[in-house]
Amino acid sequence: MTDLVVVGAGPFGLTVARVLAERGRNVTVVERRDHIGGNAHSSPDPATGIEVHNYGAHLFHTSNQRVWEFLSRFTAWTGYTHRVFTRHRGEVYPLPINLATINQFFRSALSPDEARALIAEQAGTGQAGGSGTAASGNSLRDKGVSLIGRPLYEAFIESYTAKQWQTPADQLPASVITRLPVRYNYDSRYFSDPHQGLPVDGYAALWARLADHPRIDVVLGRDFLAPADAAGPSRAACAGRAPVVFTGPIDQYFGHSAGRLGWRTIDFEWSHPPTGDFQGCPVMNYADLDAPWTRVIEFRHFHPERDYPADRTVIAHEYSRPAGADDEPYYPINRPADRERLERYRQLAAAEPGVWFGGRLGRYQYLDMDMAVAAGLALAEKL
Ligand code: FAD
Ligand code: UDP
Repeated sequence: MTDLVVVGAGPFGLTVARVLAERGRNVTVVERRDHIGGNAHSSPDPATGIEVHNYGAHLFHTSNQRVWEFLSRFTAWTGYTHRVFTRHRGEVYPLPINLATINQFFRSALSPDEARALIAEQAGTGQAGGSGTAASGNSLRDKGVSLIGRPLYEAFIESYTAKQWQTPADQLPASVITRLPVRYNYDSRYFSDPHQGLPVDGYAALWARLADHPRIDVVLGRDFLAPADAAGPSRAACAGRAPVVFTGPIDQYFGHSAGRLGWRTIDFEWSHPPTGDFQGCPVMNYADLDAPWTRVIEFRHFHPERDYPADRTVIAHEYSRPAGADDEPYYPINRPADRERLERYRQLAAAEPGVWFGGRLGRYQYLDMDMAVAAGLALAEKL
């Protein structure tokens, strides 16, 4: 007998399932893919054995002590700290924008205070202080220019954002860009969180341990919204019988009755250059329009502690575009029309008895893994 059905075996759904299983509930997790872990899945590349993140590079980082302690029950962490570089007009710069980026770009040796004064002048704000202190409008463009000034914005953000979003930067929310810190020192870490690392045995092992509980039953290869049959739980079979936590796309649940929510998808072009080091770092962004891809990931560099082949590597070029009906939804675009539709779906969701919507697809919200786990812990508490 199932006490709860969780639809979707991503970090959010698995967290809800685990917490409730530990409190004595029998939980059935229904997943339409043939693996658990959602988009944070990883697997060994067949040609090289290098662990690849099948749905794009996933770096764990959090400031949430509770999430860190919860996940640390299921994995040890490597000391990996994420650093990114970007190519612009034949040069390589460190990201996020920090004093090294600024001094390389302006061919200068500015101190932190001098750099702040320069950027403030270029931003036209009279003050530059990093995220949150610069005056700005609500769009990505206004926010970007107010944070780093026009020359740096045009070099590192404008074209990259155009390639990534195919939506004018003045129609994108400022929140997209405020994920990136701006630093007036030489700290080049991509994330500022106190806890950072990668699962020592890989993501797949982490999610397998999270799901490994006698009260959790995982059904793979089953679309909960597909017509009911004897093979497994479906919406029709569960209606009114067991509470449901739905972590799939909220618009799909309601048959797109208020229209499709806009998503951006990514095409990954995988290749195996015959070298032990293709680019010298895990992530190289391409800031200019002459490269049609946004970035190149070389997965071996996420695990320098591992013994990987010295003569082969595996890389992925990422190309971004709006998602069609059959594409994986990766990033919510969040245009005004999307927000209106979302409002309608949230009203429908509130009126749906016995069903809780959560996770990045169920909320139509960009969530880092730690935010997804935190939201899962919170929902489990509530349930
Ligand atoms: P998901 O992982 O998407 O899981 C939802 C699951 O539900 C999926 O497995 C799906 O198949 C299943 N499902 C949907 N509909 C149905 C249905 N009808 N029936 C059955 N199953 C269904 N986060 C970080 O913290 N660090 C990073 O570096 C990072 N990088 C990212 C890079 C990319 C390219 C992307 C797209 C995301 C990145 N993230 C990163 C975010 C991370 O992927 C999310 O935090 C995480 O996937 C959210 O978990 P979730 O459970 O909400 O959703
Ligand atoms: N961004 C950019 N240039 C870069 C890196 C990021 O313009 O070299 C912008 C872009 O709009 C992106 C946002 O900053 O969507 C957030 O960057 P992040 O690296 O968090 O994007 P993600 O890894 O989620 O694709």
